[in-house]
Order: sequence, then C-alpha cells, then structure tokens
Amino acid sequence: MPDSHYNLVVIGGGVVGLATALEVTRRFPRVRLLVLEKEDRVARHQSGHNSGVIHSGIYYKPGSLKARLCVAGAAAMVEFCRQHGVPHKVCGKVIVATNENELPRLEELSRRGQANGLTGLRMVESGELREIEPHATGVRALVVPSTGITDYAKVCEKYAELISAQGGSILTSSPATAIKRSTKEIVVETPRQVFAADFLINCAGLFSDRISRMAGDDPGITIVPFRGEYYDLIPERASLVRALIYPVPDPRFPFLGVHFTRRIDDSVDAGPNAVLALQREGYRHTDISLRDLAGAISFPGFWRMAAKHWRSGLDEFRRSFSKRAFTRALQRLVPSLQEQDLVPGKSGVRAQALQRDGSLVDDFTFVRSDRMLHVLNVPSPAATASLMIGKAIVQTAADQFERVS
Ligand SMILES: Cc1cc2nc3c(=O)[nH]c(=O)nc-3n(C[C@H](O)[C@H](O)[C@H](O)COP(=O)(O)OP(=O)(O)OC[C@H]3O[C@@H](n4cnc5c(N)ncnc54)[C@H](O)[C@@H]3O)c2cc1C
Repeated sequence: MPDSHYNLVVIGGGVVGLATALEVTRRFPRVRLLVLEKEDRVARHQSGHNSGVIHSGIYYKPGSLKARLCVAGAAAMVEFCRQHGVPHKVCGKVIVATNENELPRLEELSRRGQANGLTGLRMVESGELREIEPHATGVRALVVPSTGITDYAKVCEKYAELISAQGGSILTSSPATAIKRSTKEIVVETPRQVFAADFLINCAGLFSDRISRMAGDDPGITIVPFRGEYYDLIPERASLVRALIYPVPDPRFPFLGVHFTRRIDDSVDAGPNAVLALQREGYRHTDISLRDLAGAISFPGFWRMAAKHWRSGLDEFRRSFSKRAFTRALQRLVPSLQEQDLVPGKSGVRAQALQRDGSLVDDFTFVRSDRMLHVLNVPSPAATASLMIGKAIVQTAADQFERVS
C-alpha cells in the first residue's frame, strides 16, 4: 500500500527536475507534487559539478530546442539570479581562433549566433583581443557579450526553497528503486516509503535511461558518462584570465574544448576535458562500476561510437593522465601559461545520450509515454536553459495537470 498519493512525482533533484517542479508549482498550484532525490541534498551531480557558465546560445543549430531554450533561458537565468539574490555576472566571453584554419568555423559561429538572435557579437583582430584578454593570443576572436557566470548549486537551492514555499515536497536520501504502472496509478518505491502518483517525470540525469527502463519503457538510448576534469590556476597566476576564454569547438563533438573560466568566486579554472568515465558517477580515474561498464559495452551504439571517435577519445585519455598535454592544449589560448600554474581541481560527469546507430544525441530530448515523461538528454547548456526547459516539459504534460487545477 502506498504511504501517500501525489498528482506528480519528479525523480531527480538536479537543476532540470527542480526547474520543472518549480514551473508546476507556479502554473498549477493545486497539483500535489513530490520531488525524489537519492542524495542527501539537491544538485549533488551534474548541477553542482559544472562550469557555472550562463551560455549565450551561440553554438546551437538554429531552430533546435537547445538554441531556443538556451537563448531565452540565459535571459531568464540572469533575471532569476537578480530577483533572488543569487550571485551572477554577465561578463562576456571570447572565442579565439588560434590559426587561419579555424576562421571559417569562427565565422560560422558568428552566423549561428545571429540566427539565434544574439546581439552585440563582434569579431576582433589579435590587437583588440589583447585589450580584452591581455594574455590570450589568436588570429581573430569572436566577442560574445551576453555570456555570464553563476553558481548552479546556489540556483538549485533557491529553486528548492521556492518549491517548498509554494507547497511542493522535496524528499532527499530517497532513491526510486522500483516503478510500477497499474491502470489506476503509478507506484514509486523507495527504501523507506512507497508513493502513488498520477504522473511521473523522470529527470534522473545520469540514470534517466535506467529509470525509463525501470518504468517499463524502452528509452532507445543509453546514457554514456563523460567525465570533465578541471585544473585550477594558482591564485598568483589567476590574473592571466579576466573572464572566459574559449577555443573554436570541433563541430564533430558535443563538447566545447578545454577553456578558461573565471568563476563567480573569482577563482580561475581550466577545463573540462571529456573522458569516457568507467562509472556513471565516476568522479575519479579509479571509479569503476562493472554494471555501468557492462551496460555501456553491451549497447550496440557503443562500439559504433568507439569506431568513430577512438582517436579523439585517446587524445582525451592522454590529456587526462598527462598534465603536460593538458597544459599544451591550454597554451594555444594563453601561451604564457606554465604547467606549474595549474593544480588539479574538481571534476564533473556529463550524461550524454547515445543512440543505437552510434551517434551522440545532440538536442534536448523529452519522451512522453503513458502517464510519464522521460527527460533523456539534457546536456550543457541545460543548466543555463533550465527555467525554459522546465516550462517546455510542463507544457508537454499540461493536459495532465489541467485536470487537477
Ligand atoms: C563538467 C560539466 C560542465 C558543465 N558546464 C555547464 C555550464 O557551464 N553551463 C550549463 O548551462 N551547463 C553546463 N553543464 C551541463 C549541466 O550541468 C547539466 O546539463 C545539468 O546540470 C543537467 O541537470 P539534470 O537535473 O538533468 O541532472 P543532474 O544534476 O545530474 O540531476 C539528476 C539527479 O537525479 C538524481 N537521481 C538519479 N537517479 C535517481 C533515483 N533513482 N532516485 C532519485 N533520484 C535520482 C541524481 O542524484 C541527481 O541529483 C555542465 C555539465 C558538466 C558535467
């Protein structure tokens, strides 16, 4: 017998689950809502282990969900932080072409940014780049003034506070361990309690495919964990970077390449790389899960992906184990950086959906099934876009909640 009944259970207390819950409490205040989070507090995984950048939306294919929700989401995030006193800064960034070969891709980024509605984009030559970032070197750079920084763990805490204030419940240390669908309701089991719900939204990040399978659906994808490792600049050398310095990304990969970020606490870090992790929440080289590994390699798309990307994968592994190689990648942007300027920093693990044909899912992906919605791919810039992702998810399931209101 369930201990209590809710109109909606959200699994996952990361930025996406919380933004979704927040939108429900705002739009449908009569909906009885429960967020289940397996950790002892919110934002313990991707949402608390990221670069803290409020992305402008320049990178994404015009018309894609990523492009639309990021551009609107960045403005909404800045406004949210301003309204609720969450530390943030619109500091702008530079994307630096370090050789002539990268210029066509830089031009293409500028066109994309304009197509996505960004304003204030400006191409600068190396002299002007030096005025903006005195230690950066390149043949040309694109200035993106609307990029900002914040602390997404703090954003999540604020989302959680507002959800609770509006009557929603957030239960931490409560992993969903089984999900059963009957004709009447959905039953979600946790080690201590059992909950019944009319509707379920799965925002479990690195485990969203498993939750989907647990609920009896076939997600058609598997989540591949890519660890992103950072180095911190020692405080005496933090002056090498004023704000954010990015390379021109390789369009074949969903990651942006190692870059420099001045954080909201004024520290500077460099990274993240993108190394295949051997455990879904594997923050260290030594974290290995046989279950996670077996799950990944038995998925048909895994070997197709490996065949396509083995060379860049090996490069990432090399950079992961060799500080010298990591430093060299960064010296392309800031040549005066030295190996001894860097100390190992934290890491995060990205949840990236992989299809059976071996391609990495590019856009945000929400899939609706009977009385459920699975959020299967919300990589970067999902923290930036979270308020808009929450709106889009709730809109997709609005028919369910209108009945309650
Ligand atoms: C290294 C790195 C850098 C990034 N940089 C940026 C950036 O600068 N800007 C940006 O916009 N985005 C960035 N991102 C992306 C962004 O952080 C993620 O897209 C976003 O946090 C995803 O949020 P989420 O809620 O889906 O996932 P998560 O934050 O991972 O939340 C999922 C939650 O589900 C919980 N959960 C899982 N299984 C269960 C279960 N069975 N029961 C209950 N709870 C469960 C987990 O404990 C977790 O708290 C970065 C990501 C990484 C990893």
